[in-house]
Amino acid sequence: MNVPFLDLAAQQAEVADEILQGWKSQLEAAAFVGGPEVAAFEREYAAYIGVEHVIGVSNGTDALELAYRAVGVQPGDEIIMPANTFIATAEAASRLGAVPVFVDVDDDHLLIDPSAIEAAITERTRAIAPVHLFGQMAPMEHITPIAQKHDLVIIEDAAQSQGASGPAGRAGALGRVAATSFYPGKNLGAAGDAGAVMTDDPAIADIVRNLGGHGSSVKYVHDRIGMNARLDAVQATVLRAKLRRLDAWNAARRAAAARYAELFDGVDGIRTPAVRPGNDDVWHLYVVRVEERDRVMAELGEAGIGVGIHYPTPVHLTAAYQGLGYRRGQFPVAEAAADSILSLPMFPHLTADQQAAVSGALRESVEPR
Ligand SMILES: *Cc1c(COP(=O)(O)O)cnc(C)c1O
Repeated sequence: MNVPFLDLAAQQAEVADEILQGWKSQLEAAAFVGGPEVAAFEREYAAYIGVEHVIGVSNGTDALELAYRAVGVQPGDEIIMPANTFIATAEAASRLGAVPVFVDVDDDHLLIDPSAIEAAITERTRAIAPVHLFGQMAPMEHITPIAQKHDLVIIEDAAQSQGASGPAGRAGALGRVAATSFYPGKNLGAAGDAGAVMTDDPAIADIVRNLGGHGSSVKYVHDRIGMNARLDAVQATVLRAKLRRLDAWNAARRAAAARYAELFDGVDGIRTPAVRPGNDDVWHLYVVRVEERDRVMAELGEAGIGVGIHYPTPVHLTAAYQGLGYRRGQFPVAEAAADSILSLPMFPHLTADQQAAVSGALRESVEPR
């Protein structure tokens, strides 16, 4: 049996009628950028996350850049973030002239290590960008006191954690500001690129909206050098339809994760992901660790099982960031993980039969020979 890494078709089928109807009325009304549909999505997502303000934007990377700028990160300021994240967390900082400062992660969950954060703080540190990676919350109950003690701003990267919560509350509601991505493969995905910024602070919300609309709040009056980072109405329609199903889809992901855990229970050579106590994981990715990962990955590919690596190179070792002077060996946990992590098929409509096929192929591949 072939099992895709990600199958969005079943998800689309559930919402297709709603989306097509919405798109038809948008075409008729010729309302494309911003407008009532975007405003409605922003209200609904704010209520869902439990924040005062959501600003729909063009994508997750722009959302991060807008969030960093809105809290006052300046060129030369340092932002502490985990070494194993999608590059966008760092890229958004670099784009505004700030400096990403990478730190290692904890070996159990591959989430940013709070003790590493404290060790990385300098005179120039301005912010911490915890990433709620793979669908579970970074340890905010440890990070928030560090930020308070050193007067640092927290910007959450909530791109992989729509609907996740932890002991301190919900992803996206725990920093001064948060950014998320609605790239199609995220737990809440658009039909193209989209993202959002979340905050309780009305002043930050105003700045984000202003910056994202060419630095302007009154037409052709430009207060700042901004950018064009607005959300399209066609995407808001998709997001509204899928938001109504997000809890059910996240529950289906949790059931699939529980099934994987059962299938791999007691199997030598497969390290299944651990959930932090108090975390309600939304399983954006189901990441196991295996020895000889590249061989295992190739064998799964031959068996028709779609897999991925998130991410093959920790950000500090990418060619893009060679200029910052990091060396291999600085973040041993993130570096070792990059060689053993393997993301298995995970999506709401994954079936038990598909999971059995994944499990069979993976067990065969890790068995001693
Ligand atoms: C997807 C993602 C982003 C960037 O979002 P885009 O919409 O692709 O720009 C940022 N951070 C993390 C952790 C992500 O997974």
